Amino acid sequence: MKMQNAFAANATSLFAVLVGTALLATVAMAGAPPASKLDTTKVGDGLYVIHNAAVPGNVTVMVTNDGVLLVDDKFDSDLDNILAEVRKLTMQPVKYVINTHYHLDHSGSNVRLQAMGVQVVSSANARAKMVESKQPGWANFTVENRGTVHLGGKRAELYYFGRSHTDGDIVVYFPEHKVMSMGDMYTVGDATPQLVDYAGGGSARAWPNTIDGALMLDVDTVVPGHGPNTTKAELRKFRDSTVLIQARVRQLLAEKKGRAEIEAVLRKDFHWGDLNVSRGLDGLIAEMQ
Ligand SMILES: [Zn+2]
Repeated sequence: MKMQNAFAANATSLFAVLVGTALLATVAMAGAPPASKLDTTKVGDGLYVIHNAAVPGNVTVMVTNDGVLLVDDKFDSDLDNILAEVRKLTMQPVKYVINTHYHLDHSGSNVRLQAMGVQVVSSANARAKMVESKQPGWANFTVENRGTVHLGGKRAELYYFGRSHTDGDIVVYFPEHKVMSMGDMYTVGDATPQLVDYAGGGSARAWPNTIDGALMLDVDTVVPGHGPNTTKAELRKFRDSTVLIQARVRQLLAEKKGRAEIEAVLRKDFHWGDLNVSRGLDGLIAEMQ
């Protein structure tokens, strides 16, 4: 869908178009979506989260005396406002951005940040997806299972626990603050229900075990890919929902229900929208057979 159509659409469709655009990596061709209104909250001493309405994704900001590290960088159209928010916190330059995964609402500012000398870090799988989808701004550094970025006496620890939203999602853990930023492995709110991007290597079946890995970290504050900051208890509830959705689909299949009936249940009980259906339904049914 072309972006100009989005402006005539209703809010729900616009949301779907924006996320869909991110997923399908067509922002560069279709023109960037309008910049979203940003709002920064403090989650620790020198640690902040830049939120906005449901789309694009959250940005975590680690401020040190030797520069700034970002987790995710929204769409390219949001970068000027992201940097303005960072300027309110510090005059230090941005030195690193970690992409939790390859979707453009989390990595869309990579190109411009790299032009400023910022180093981009992602999982090896996420970088492979950036290359495969011919998305600009490929990561400069990659991690397989675990890595650490050291900056100004602080640490950002990177963990890959397995497939979930895609096959390349990493968790970024800030041990000094007991905060972790999870990207779209964890989303909060009915506007951004669990999205299994099978084309991006996602897996509903692997998802709960992947969250179990993150739950082993010593954490007080959990920053989702979309939505407000939460707690480990809330993350556990989300994990339970990723088990429940599998049980429901297995039950429906056992009852010989068809694709349309399964889709109706996912829309009604799990808040799935068009994008969740188009990216995830067939793959989910195949995984639950
Ligand atoms: Zn995503």
